[in-house]
Amino acid sequence: MLPVKEAESIILSLVKPLDEQVDTEVVRLSAATGRILAVPVTSQLDFPHWDNSAMDGYAVRYADVQCCHTSEPAVLEIIEEIPAGYQPESEVQPGQASRILTGACMPKGADTVVMQENTQREDNRVLIFEAPEPQAFVRHRAAFYQAGMPLLEEGISIGAPEIAVLAAAQCTQLTVYRRPKVVIISTGNELVTPEQPLQPGQIVDSNQYALAAFVFQAGGVPIPLGIVPDEPEALKAKITQAISSADMVLSTGGVSVGDYDYVDQILTQLGTQIHIHSVAVKPGKPLTVATFPSLEEGNPKGAKRPVLYFGLPGNPVSALVSCWRFVTPALRRLSGLPQASCQPTFVQAYTCQELRAAGKRETYLWGQLDLVDGRYEFHLAGGSHSSGNLINLAQTTGLAVVPVGQTLIPAGESVQVLQISY
Ligand code: AMP
Ligand code: MG
Repeated sequence: MLPVKEAESIILSLVKPLDEQVDTEVVRLSAATGRILAVPVTSQLDFPHWDNSAMDGYAVRYADVQCCHTSEPAVLEIIEEIPAGYQPESEVQPGQASRILTGACMPKGADTVVMQENTQREDNRVLIFEAPEPQAFVRHRAAFYQAGMPLLEEGISIGAPEIAVLAAAQCTQLTVYRRPKVVIISTGNELVTPEQPLQPGQIVDSNQYALAAFVFQAGGVPIPLGIVPDEPEALKAKITQAISSADMVLSTGGVSVGDYDYVDQILTQLGTQIHIHSVAVKPGKPLTVATFPSLEEGNPKGAKRPVLYFGLPGNPVSALVSCWRFVTPALRRLSGLPQASCQPTFVQAYTCQELRAAGKRETYLWGQLDLVDGRYEFHLAGGSHSSGNLINLAQTTGLAVVPVGQTLIPAGESVQVLQISY
């Protein structure tokens, strides 16, 4: 049994990220949310595009106002009104000012903005009572970004702030990594689809749906291949089909030591290299991680890219916990994110209930992570923490970690919590 950290670093070392030359597609800006940039973006525009005012007030020459004060205001003639979106026409000469509004272009001749609050308007004149700093409230052209410099780097994930930047820079078409294709297979003679009537001894294949949702939320394209019985030949055919169309395969069930657990045996027959058989984690001990060599690597039956195979435990809780802990980093890396952004996020929280573990394996207990008055609180899900109980997994937003060797974290103590967010 491998320690969790070791398993994580082996998994990350096995991922061959999507290629920025071939594994890309062009998307419209409006469809780019959640995608990862494959090509850096630069702009030919300066930000701001021109000198502009940060305040409602008066554009003046600093020399005209530098000595004014309450008892001896500067009196300037107003020559023009400059609202946002208007191109000023008149140059401000000594003794003059232009009325200017926030965001509007600075007129020629002016170098400083006096905020409206420090002035008094009298017809076409303005009285200024307080000397501003030189260049006050002027946002200078290119102060935020200079045309031609890198704007957004390759490998960044596009969210609302990046969309704002790209829209402002008029980048309407973007080259992003394609979404990784993740095939999902459920193994087990006991499984039926949610639509089929349940016979005694049968259960619904919830993993197929849960994993498809997980893959979708993690930015991949789920390809559900359905249920395969615990029969070596059927399993072999399904896995062969899977590797031809996937970047990654997630199968559940059949990786334990039971009489019907054939996955590892089939993987070996198909020429994969198995890197991990089990991890010292609870839930999720039986975890098979294997790679199918690619065509390039001289495997005549291989896919174009090496395919990473996760044989996950069948228990619905174990399967999802393994996804959150081990598949997420691999999927992020595969998607084109830099290594440093791939690890799950752990936060330090206070547990509201005591947390118990057997101490032999790193134990993940599911519940809700809340930010209350600036500190994280972890609320353990009520009910059984058996890995067979999927019912109280609903609304999980955090997994509290009880390290190996520890059997109790009392209520009110600090605990590391893996944050589940997308
Ligand atoms: P296994 O890992 O195949 O031994 O399965 C462990 C447990 O998980 C068994 O109780 C299975 O019935 C259950 N299980 C396996 N596959 C699924 C699935 N696709 N959906 C829901 N439960 C499953
Ligand atoms: Mg099974």
